[in-house]
Amino acid sequence: MKIMKFGGTSVGKPERMHQVRELITRDNEPKIVVLSALSGTTNTLVSIGESCAQGEKAGAKDIIDKLEAHYRSFVKDLLKPGPARDKANGIVSEHFEFLNIILKISFNEALNKDILAQGELLSTKLFSCYLQQEGLTHKLLPALEFMSIDSYDEPQVGSIKVRLGMLLEENKETPLFITQGYICRNAKGEIDNLKRGGSDYTASLVAAAIQASVCEIWTDIDGMHNNDPRIVDKTLPIETLSFDEAAELAYFGAKILHPASIWPAQHYNVPVKLLNTMQPDAKGTIIQEKASSRGAKAVAAKDGIIAIKIKSSRMLLAYGFLRKIFEVFEKYRTPIDMVTTSEVAVSLTIDTKAHLAEIIKELEPFGTVEVDEEQTIVSVVGHELAEEKATLTRLFDALDGIPVRMVSFGGSPHNVSLLVPAEHKKKTLQLLNKGLFGL
Ligand code: ASP
Ligand code: MG
Repeated sequence: MKIMKFGGTSVGKPERMHQVRELITRDNEPKIVVLSALSGTTNTLVSIGESCAQGEKAGAKDIIDKLEAHYRSFVKDLLKPGPARDKANGIVSEHFEFLNIILKISFNEALNKDILAQGELLSTKLFSCYLQQEGLTHKLLPALEFMSIDSYDEPQVGSIKVRLGMLLEENKETPLFITQGYICRNAKGEIDNLKRGGSDYTASLVAAAIQASVCEIWTDIDGMHNNDPRIVDKTLPIETLSFDEAAELAYFGAKILHPASIWPAQHYNVPVKLLNTMQPDAKGTIIQEKASSRGAKAVAAKDGIIAIKIKSSRMLLAYGFLRKIFEVFEKYRTPIDMVTTSEVAVSLTIDTKAHLAEIIKELEPFGTVEVDEEQTIVSVVGHELAEEKATLTRLFDALDGIPVRMVSFGGSPHNVSLLVPAEHKKKTLQLLNKGLFGL
């Protein structure tokens, strides 16, 4: 059995949905198809939630009506007049009735999650109507019956496996399942989600749970590229990546894949393919256990980084200093990305300002604290980077003139991370593209 996940742009227009049908019927392997919401829908639902939170009911109503009109015309273009179209219109009515009801009740965070779930519920149900019209045997698998997270927002892989297994067992003869990406239930049993972009994560978790033959992620680009195409002139798709390389790239800025979606596939050794709906026969990127070759494969950048330096002569020959510093970050549940130390100072980076003021306050007793905002982590990702002497030489030669604030190397053999002020990001990516890849 395989997993095929289609992102928002791949289902965002009626003709795209028609194409998805073609793609899922190209072979006879049984499959679970995971769908995102139609492109733009989740953003719109976010703004409905925001308007409600601010008590702007009229504004929210306006957005809801526009969204409903969009879905009405989508249904008209997706389906011919007939029972499937009638059913689809009924589904649209039902979900927009719900959105209109929320305008009348008092708003809270749990309700906001219900609002956010409407996108994937609509896309999968409408796609199912379309498959029904085309006479394609299939079954809708409600993600809310098997996807769950615990009180730390971590997916409960064990129970996902059991519940999904039972649902599949009940429908043994069904060759095709459709399910929602992104949505799940939380520890309280309420509707929740796997955070923005989380449909990839759903696909990978489902692939892991059923030991799928492959987890295909269909988007609108031809795989992961060696650099950011919005910033450098020339980039190339990468044919193969190891799970470790892909995890670093996804985390450090490659937008094509949700960063958490690598570990389930890696843990259960299910290959992941990144494919392009617009060019279904292009090779894309395959992510698997083994790296294809040594050396640098790609460069990625992560913006919005804050560098914190704690300087203290008390650190000299002392022990336990780093633990005390790390405990402050742990207390505020703030992940640290990069760390470098000298004998009298430690520099580290975080990517959220949520608790910055409290963190600084608690760090001050340990020494002088300096904070630099608006930094960017540029990561060079590849396999056994240290073994390839030429790679490191080329990397540092390329950086001539860039004020590198931190360098982190050796944490993993797959990554060299550089911290540069955000205004030098563009130049850094361009220089590395030339220096490492000759592009
Ligand atoms: N629809 C959700 C989002 O836009 C989840 C996803 O598409 O991956 O974030
Ligand atoms: Mg996505």
